[in-house]
Amino acid sequence: MTHSAPPFDGCSWLRAWNETWGAALDPQGFGGRLREARLARLIAAALRDSPLYARRSRGAVALADFAPVSKAELMHGFDDWATDRRITLAGAQAHLAGAGIADAWLGRYLLWTSSGTSGVPGLFVQDAASLAAYDAIEALRLRGSGAGVLGLWSVGRRCAYVGALGGPYAGHVAIERVRRLAPLGLAPRLELMSVLEPISGLVQRLQAFQPDVLITYPSCAAALALEQARGALRLRLDELWLGGEQLTPGQRGLVRSAFGCRLRNSYGASEFYSIAFECSHAQLHLNGDWVILEPVDARGRAAAGDAFSHGALLTNLANRTQPLLRYALPDRIRYAAAPCACGSAWPVIEVQGRCGDTLDLPGPEGRIRLLPLALETAIEEDAGVTQFQLLLRSDTRLELRLEAGAADAAAALARARRAVLAFLAGQGLRGVHVVCSRAAVRRQSGSGKLRRVVDARAPGAEAPVPA
Ligand SMILES: [Zn+2]
Repeated sequence: MTHSAPPFDGCSWLRAWNETWGAALDPQGFGGRLREARLARLIAAALRDSPLYARRSRGAVALADFAPVSKAELMHGFDDWATDRRITLAGAQAHLAGAGIADAWLGRYLLWTSSGTSGVPGLFVQDAASLAAYDAIEALRLRGSGAGVLGLWSVGRRCAYVGALGGPYAGHVAIERVRRLAPLGLAPRLELMSVLEPISGLVQRLQAFQPDVLITYPSCAAALALEQARGALRLRLDELWLGGEQLTPGQRGLVRSAFGCRLRNSYGASEFYSIAFECSHAQLHLNGDWVILEPVDARGRAAAGDAFSHGALLTNLANRTQPLLRYALPDRIRYAAAPCACGSAWPVIEVQGRCGDTLDLPGPEGRIRLLPLALETAIEEDAGVTQFQLLLRSDTRLELRLEAGAADAAAALARARRAVLAFLAGQGLRGVHVVCSRAAVRRQSGSGKLRRVVDARAPGAEAPVPA
């Protein structure tokens, strides 16, 4: 198969790097002016060239005039959503079915998909301008201002990426694109490993590869940190890059003491790859020149007070091809009132994102840890089910539940059960029973969030009441 090179545009790139560098010198002034100019161009493009926005937001002038929009609504109206009329769902799906990871589509776009945490998988089109913005943010902010262009490619370093590889997910596509774009001889040694692999297998492969940089999710890093602490894994990492899940204080302490290396944590989404970057004081700073993030209550109104919001509305200022204006994200956020001690003027946010439990079970040769993200990915990919809950009731019993009113529930439960059993077998766990429950999933009170993997053994765990 021939592969078309990943999209890249030198003009967009130079401009994004200059502006991103300049905005960091004066976030409130120059950064704020960039934000307003980008927002005005985005609104004009959406109302002029996106039939979907033109229809639902007729007469809108300011951002507040746009009603919040959900992933389900945008996916339903996919062919009317983009500002390039060649972008259709059928065309995008045909490209994904036939192309390699990070191949350009229509000569200029990159496609990636999101998981179905909120019930509907998303399909996102990245244009050259948004990719240039992500590159600039990643090199200049996430990796520190000294990293520069060469830092983007981690020249000469050995990088291991442990993530979801079963589909064209944002993290996998983005890392593959950067690798393929690296000038000859400057590409990092990159090893991709699936997060669905048993931890013991990951330990062996990482030990053999000996990466300088490990890129993964916090729950996976924490599981590997335990292996490092007990001597089964012996890595000498320069850096650990984390994203895709919320990093808890417990995980932070664990990976810090086990690996003793520099931690680079970020908060992103398939809808905007680099929403916030962590500073040296372990605070997340919003990339306020490229993205707008509004905390909202359950009815989509501006959230008041110091508490975490019900959700957030995201506006992507970098991408005018597939516009996202006040797009509903399920993440609970809040803005810190005080400025960060690091001196950066970018706003500090706290995020409560994904929050499944890591399940620790007795295996034939010691404890086996099952990562929530790996279990969720296995069920989504193999069973096509997204709104489920998997409850660990005892060391040998898991219970599966579906959303109330799920279509064809018995068949979906049976598929999900087969997927879980296959996953457990792959991890070396054969004596665990998986029972299908007729009870519906129980969402968390207050946030309404669905924790999909729950350790319900521990007293006080937020387990649903047994049916
Ligand atoms: Zn800071």
